[in-house]
Amino acid sequence: MTKVVYNTLKLSEYRPLFHNLRVLIVGAGAVGTHLMEKFAKMGLSPDAIDFDFFTLENAAKHGCLVRTPDDAGRNKAECTSDRVQPLLDDGCSSNGIDGDLCKLGPEAFSDYDYVVAAVDNFDAKVLLNELIRRLPEKRRPNIIMDGTHDEMAQSVILDNTEFCIRCLIDESWMKDSSIRTSCTGPQIRQTGGVNEIVRTSNLASSMAAHLSAEQLRASVVGDDGVMNCRLTYTAYPHLELSSSRPMRKRNCPGCAIHPPAQIEWLHGSVMEVTLKDAMEQISAFLGTTDFEISVHRLNYRKVVHAGFIVDDVCRSCGKTIHVMRHEGRVFPHDLLCEECAGAGKQPRPASEFTHCDPLHAFSYDCEEPVRSMTLYDLGYPLGAHIEVIQRNGALDFLDTGKIKRTVFAFDEDHLRMHEVRKL
Ligand SMILES: [Zn+2]
Ligand SMILES: [Zn+2]
Repeated sequence: MTKVVYNTLKLSEYRPLFHNLRVLIVGAGAVGTHLMEKFAKMGLSPDAIDFDFFTLENAAKHGCLVRTPDDAGRNKAECTSDRVQPLLDDGCSSNGIDGDLCKLGPEAFSDYDYVVAAVDNFDAKVLLNELIRRLPEKRRPNIIMDGTHDEMAQSVILDNTEFCIRCLIDESWMKDSSIRTSCTGPQIRQTGGVNEIVRTSNLASSMAAHLSAEQLRASVVGDDGVMNCRLTYTAYPHLELSSSRPMRKRNCPGCAIHPPAQIEWLHGSVMEVTLKDAMEQISAFLGTTDFEISVHRLNYRKVVHAGFIVDDVCRSCGKTIHVMRHEGRVFPHDLLCEECAGAGKQPRPASEFTHCDPLHAFSYDCEEPVRSMTLYDLGYPLGAHIEVIQRNGALDFLDTGKIKRTVFAFDEDHLRMHEVRKL
């Protein structure tokens, strides 16, 4: 590929300050495509994550980084990252991940200086806030959150010292965002955003991206008074650009989230390390094999998915099937036996069946097929904080004096964000 070699004499003098900075754009849609272009041209290393794909009907909203009609049908993150490659400065990189936030843990964000939330989905913002708040402060990136409404554009930059993302979200907006499709057995997660039409324009989206890029630029250059501010652009007839300082929300559930007091490091990445390997590393650290590893706890759309399904029943004929997946990654069609799936049968509601209990923890002597799976396939996200419990003879969780919890993370997970293509 032909790469651009820039004439540095014609670029801003402060440009070298951007060279070692990594940025993650969550959502490569209307605003995200404009951000990718700006960040690449500013000399940053921008990565993007998005599970969605470009459509022709939305072409009027995207930046010109996306080619029409050629790029219709391509994954948004993969496509924008591909399109910025020739524009990247020497030594900079960009990776596009086809995936969603539910597959990321706190440590996935620790290699970034800035994370931009360019998503119009409250549940995703709430989850992102939780993940960032769980990251110890010294590894926590600055957050930029932007958005548009009609012709208006807004962007907020925060370092989590004065307020969090959730402080900026009106809790009444959260009411309809929860979707609970079953009350027994696996909770089925719905993909996709909120099903409401948000009218906006390319002008507003590119302005939102511009405001975010300006906040990033000014904070890197070291201007005072940039951090923890919200910029609001209002179009005609009340044309205005204003800056304000949002306040911490009282009793904010987001601000109540804190990182673990201590994190111990395991070697490798959840993508390759098997449960068996992890157990060995943990037992070497703890000096015992008497512990269990909690199944990943995913709290999304107000539903907690914390079980690993070994066996369940076919949602059409009721026959026992081998599932071997985390609750949060199971969809109704995954729960059909081969015959029913082959015959095109539709899954019936979970409440019509009696289910097998999922696992909530993996013990040292759990069955071999489970032990040989990678932690990622067992449901742990990339960058997971993994909780290990030593009961020390305690009979239940009320016996807290005996129970010891240790949180582990993998030392290579954060680097995989610049390589992994699909999550
Ligand atoms: Zn808050
Ligand atoms: Zn069946």
